[in-house]
Amino acid sequence: MNVQQIPNWLKQRAYLTPDRPAIKSNGVWVTFQELHQRVLHRANQLATLGVKKEDRVGLLMKNSFDMVIMVHALMYSGAVNVLLNNRLTSSELMWQIRDVSASYIFCDDSLEGEIHKLEAIDVVTHSELLSTIAADTCTIVQEFASDSVATIMYTSGTTGHPKGVLQTYGNHLWSAMGSALNLGLHSDDRWLATVPLFHISGFSILMKNVIYGMGIVLHEKFEAKQANRAITEDKVTIVSVVTTMLNQMLSELGSSSYPEHFRCMLLGGGPAPKTILEQCRDKKIPVFQTYGMTETSSQIVTLSADYSLEKLGSAGKPLFPCQLSIKKDQKLSAAFEEGEIVVKGPNVTIGYWNRNDATLESIKDSWLYTGDLGYLDDEGFLYVLDRRSDLIISGGENVYPAEIEGILMSHPAVTEAGVVGITDDRWGQVPFAFVVANKSISEGELLDFCKGKLATYKVPKAIKFEKVLPRNASNKLLRRKLKELIEEGHHND
Ligand code: ATP
Ligand code: MG
Repeated sequence: MNVQQIPNWLKQRAYLTPDRPAIKSNGVWVTFQELHQRVLHRANQLATLGVKKEDRVGLLMKNSFDMVIMVHALMYSGAVNVLLNNRLTSSELMWQIRDVSASYIFCDDSLEGEIHKLEAIDVVTHSELLSTIAADTCTIVQEFASDSVATIMYTSGTTGHPKGVLQTYGNHLWSAMGSALNLGLHSDDRWLATVPLFHISGFSILMKNVIYGMGIVLHEKFEAKQANRAITEDKVTIVSVVTTMLNQMLSELGSSSYPEHFRCMLLGGGPAPKTILEQCRDKKIPVFQTYGMTETSSQIVTLSADYSLEKLGSAGKPLFPCQLSIKKDQKLSAAFEEGEIVVKGPNVTIGYWNRNDATLESIKDSWLYTGDLGYLDDEGFLYVLDRRSDLIISGGENVYPAEIEGILMSHPAVTEAGVVGITDDRWGQVPFAFVVANKSISEGELLDFCKGKLATYKVPKAIKFEKVLPRNASNKLLRRKLKELIEEGHHND
């Protein structure tokens, strides 16, 4: 393969447009030149500590300016950033740290307690870095090779144990370019980073920041009011959100609307219920639905706002450098025929860390088998249905839990819903729903509501009310845990 050498991104950016505002955090803007200087200093500190090229270095940090500095400083050192989800439990974290055999972990002071000391790992807290580590002058990496691994990011662990995804410099560069060729790049663009930087959704904003030379506004955590305020006051033009965030932003917005300059609400990470898309349409909010995963280094398929009415519910078409097809029994599916979503592109991972079996199973002939089900319409627009592992087959019909969950959640009394299949003598499997309600409502009323909106075979056999539903550290619903609840016999009445 022809390996491209690309100039060190931030250094190049600081050389090209030194005075441009780069990041606003804690109310202060820094320029690309200032950012580069801070990163250089940190890279020198890392050299003093002994961080070497190709070391795998864990970052256990909350969104902060300092985390941005660490990410770039590790790139300057030639080390591999291992982004750790700070919402994981201590044992989940330790599993990942051992799995990746990290040499160092850099963590926020408040998170140090989550890490058990292991002999092979140096744990360095933020305050140690600031107070005690000198900055020797080091040689920084001048060029990034497109095929070298920049980051290892674990999948959310929704379907099983998380897997460490290897993302190369080439993957991140192509991801940023593919996104720009899709969304366009305006001279006044400003992207709000309020999703976690340890996820690809947030991390990809950091890459776009330096590759595009575009300012970003960084929030330490998501707060709907602050996010809406950033759109108005910081002149943010693009925001990345998942459904729950968008819901909160909409209710916070009330009857007001977003200013003209706001051009893109990039909505991804999971299924987008039609009701929220319709609400956005009514409020003239430009929603771009997008489909992607850790393995595709962010977006791979996106629906531009031009089509949001006509193709409501679709995740769109592939980004320019990417390809998409639907496969069933090793054959390409025809339009409207459901099958596994298979993707290819320069932003797609080269494989999983330490999981050759999973790599061989998922990547064949450079095509990534996503484990998600969907179909293409006759114009090539993708509709994501659900994960293959969660499909319910009832009387020979495919039933997608996400569709039923979407209907349940469109009821005003329902805040959360989770649907799984249970065995049934007559139909093989039937859907069973778990619901969290915010007002009193009976099972019968909710079932009647479903009957008006779903074909009979999709209506849950029963609905069980719960206080909370099991979710992972990325806040994704864990249907496998719901299945376990049923298997344990708790709900088989
Ligand atoms: P694991 O791979 O460990 O089970 P995960 O797949 O949840 O975890 P991520 O990479 O964070 O880990 O999430 C990507 C997944 O999110 C996709 O494979 C898909 O199932 C879901 N997803 C992303 N975008 C959409 C979308 N627009 N519509 C429906 N599902 C989506
Ligand atoms: Mg996955």
